[in-house]
Amino acid sequence: MPSPTNTLTSIQGMAEGLDGRVIGPSDPDYDAARAVMAGGIDRRPAAIVRVASAADVARVIRVAREIGAELAVRCGGHSGAAHGTTDGGIVIDVRDLRQIDLDVAGRTVWAGSGLTAGELTAEVTSHGLVVGFGDTGSVGLGGITTGGGVGYLVRRDGLTIDNLIGAEIVTAEGEILEIDADRHPDLFWAIRGGGGNFGVATRFHYRLNELPAFYGGMLVLPATPETIAGFMAAAAAAPEELSTIANVMTAPPMPFLPEEWVGRIVVLGMIGYAGDAEAGERAVAPFRALAEPLADMVKDSPYSEMFPPEDPDYHPTAAAVNMHIDHVDRDVAATILDHLERSDASLAAAQLRQLGGAMARVPADATAYAHRSSPIMVNLAAFYEGEADRQAKEAWVRDFATAIDQGDPAVYVNFLADEGPERVRAAYPGATWERLVEVKRRYDPTNMFRLNQNVTP
Ligand SMILES: Cc1cc2nc3c(=O)[nH]c(=O)nc-3n(C[C@H](O)[C@H](O)[C@H](O)COP(=O)(O)OP(=O)(O)OC[C@H]3O[C@@H](n4cnc5c(N)ncnc54)[C@H](O)[C@@H]3O)c2cc1C
Repeated sequence: MPSPTNTLTSIQGMAEGLDGRVIGPSDPDYDAARAVMAGGIDRRPAAIVRVASAADVARVIRVAREIGAELAVRCGGHSGAAHGTTDGGIVIDVRDLRQIDLDVAGRTVWAGSGLTAGELTAEVTSHGLVVGFGDTGSVGLGGITTGGGVGYLVRRDGLTIDNLIGAEIVTAEGEILEIDADRHPDLFWAIRGGGGNFGVATRFHYRLNELPAFYGGMLVLPATPETIAGFMAAAAAAPEELSTIANVMTAPPMPFLPEEWVGRIVVLGMIGYAGDAEAGERAVAPFRALAEPLADMVKDSPYSEMFPPEDPDYHPTAAAVNMHIDHVDRDVAATILDHLERSDASLAAAQLRQLGGAMARVPADATAYAHRSSPIMVNLAAFYEGEADRQAKEAWVRDFATAIDQGDPAVYVNFLADEGPERVRAAYPGATWERLVEVKRRYDPTNMFRLNQNVTP
C-alpha cells in the first residue's frame, strides 16, 4: 500500500476534476469526517472523499486501483466492524448523495445512497408511503440496503431489499451501471444482501408501500419468564401488519420509567402496527395484557417517530453476537433472564425480533439474503469498558449464545462485527455463497471492495 502522504497527493491531483471534496488530515473537519459509530475506533484515512456524483466515485476507484490504496466505503458509519473507515487508505464517503426523486402516483422513489433511513422515511411518509428500514434513523441507506434491512415493517412488507427494484452502482472497473431484474440481474441479486462487495451504490430505486395510518411506540414491561415468552408468543400470533422488537435489557434511566426500575431487567418492547388506531389497539391488546406496563407509549403516531432523536457523539463499545432461534418458550425466557441478571455490564441486552410474514414468503434464492425461514433473530450484547473487560464481555455473549442455541446456524450479515470468514460464510449458506463468489469474480476479481464482510473472489 502507498504511504498516506502519497495517497493523499494522488487524490488531490484529481481534485479539480471532482464534483465533491477531498478531506485530508490537515483539514479542520478531518476528525469529524473520519468518526464512525462503533466505539474505540480511531483510524486515520489518508483521504476522505465526499463524493458528489457517480462520476466522482468512478474517479476515486480508478485512482485507488492505480496506486494500490485500500478503499473503504462509508455511508451512515454504523458498521459494527467499522468497515466504513481505513488506516492510511481512501474513504469514499457517500453522505452527500442525497437526491430524492419521488413518484407518488407510481409509488416508487430513487434515493441518493448517502441518505439515512430517517431522512428518506420522513420524506416518503409525508405522502402516506413508506419503505421499511431498521430501528434506527441514523443508519445509512448504503449499508442497510445492501445487507438486507430488518425493521418495523418486516412482517408486512418484507426486508428493505424486498422493496428494492433497481440501483445505480459503480463497479471496481469504475463503470457506472443501472441495474435491476433485467439489467445485470446477477449483480442486482448480489447487492440485495451481499453487502458492499460488488461496487458502490450511488442511488437506490425503491418500491413504496402505502401507510395511511400507523399505531406504534414503546411498551415497557417487567421482565419475567412469563412476560418474555408471552411477548414472543403474541408477536408470532399477531397479524402481519404488526412487527416487534423485544429488547430484554437493563433499563436505562428514562424520564417516563419509575425510578426503582432503572438498572433492573425489563422488556422494552418496540411495537409497530401498520394501520389505524382501532385495529392497532386490538393487535396490541395481547401485549398489554401480559403485565401492568411500566410505560406504555404505543399510540396513533407518525411512523417516523419510531426513530427517536439520537446523540451523534454516542460511541459505545459493545461485545455482540447475532443468531437465530425457533422459539422462546418459558424455559428459554428463563435462561435469557438468568444470563442478563448475572451480567455486571452497564448495559446487557437480548434483542428478539419476530420475523416471518412477507419476508418469509420470498424464496431463499431470490436475493443474497437467504435466511427466510428463521423465525426469530436474536442480538445479544454487553457494553464493556477497556480491554480486559472486552474479553470478559465477549466470553459472556458467547456463553449466552451457547445457552440459547437451538441449532439454527443463520447469521445476519449487517449485525456481524469483525468475526472472521466462518461467520461471513454463516451469513451466506451453501448455494448463496457459491453464487456470490461467481458474481464477485465477474465484477471485482481483484477484491477492490474488501473492507466489508468479504466474499473472496
Ligand atoms: C445502532 C444500530 C442499529 C441498527 N439497527 C438495525 C436494524 O434495525 N435493522 C437492520 O437491518 N440493521 C440494523 N443495524 C445494522 C446496520 O444495518 C448495518 O450496520 C449497516 O451496514 C450500517 O450501514 P451504514 O451505511 O450506516 O454503515 P457504514 O459503516 O457507513 O457502511 C457499512 C458497510 O456498508 C457498505 N456500504 C455502505 N454504503 C454503501 C454504498 N453506497 N454502496 C455499497 N456498499 C455500501 C460498505 O461495505 C460499508 O463498509 C443497526 C446498526 C446499528 C449500529
